[in-house]
Amino acid sequence: MLKSILSPDTCRACKNCCVFEPQSAWELPTFLPESCIRIGLTDGEAACARYRIALRYDETGAARNCPFLDPETGCTLPAEEKPFACSIWPLRVMRMEDGRLVFAVYRGCSGLPEEKFPALEQLLADGLKARIYEEMEKDATLVLPYHPNYHILDVR
Ligand code: SF4
Ligand code: SF4
Repeated sequence: MLKSILSPDTCRACKNCCVFEPQSAWELPTFLPESCIRIGLTDGEAACARYRIALRYDETGAARNCPFLDPETGCTLPAEEKPFACSIWPLRVMRMEDGRLVFAVYRGCSGLPEEKFPALEQLLADGLKARIYEEMEKDATLVLPYHPNYHILDVR
């Protein structure tokens, strides 16, 4: 969805968005129950009407891969099963403590440095924002609590 400004090859090499430390487990993607059955996801935690992948961390606290990540080739899910949230990484819709919704981008993304933020803002204005609103109607888990690791691009 961000292909015009972020190459899939860059993401395949980086994979940062598909590897989760215990403190970033709140960002794991969610799936509808019927999708869980189709893709064989048995380890999930209820989140609204969807299930968030539950990774089992050990006492070392080491980061773990999403179960659908192939370290060599990237995400193994077919496009139709891939969560919308994953397709817009490193962009997020987040709720501030005062209730406002913001569009924010992960500051640690090597493929989308600050100089590319204007291009991302343009994509949002050109239809991506409307597309995200559509998905938000269907999926409440798309909205995550704001975290300072994210740079705010736009306030709803
Ligand atoms: S951090 Fe950026 S470059 Fe790395 S996988 Fe995520 S979106 Fe792609
Ligand atoms: S579902 Fe695919 S894109 Fe999303 S975190 Fe897992 S491996 Fe990455």
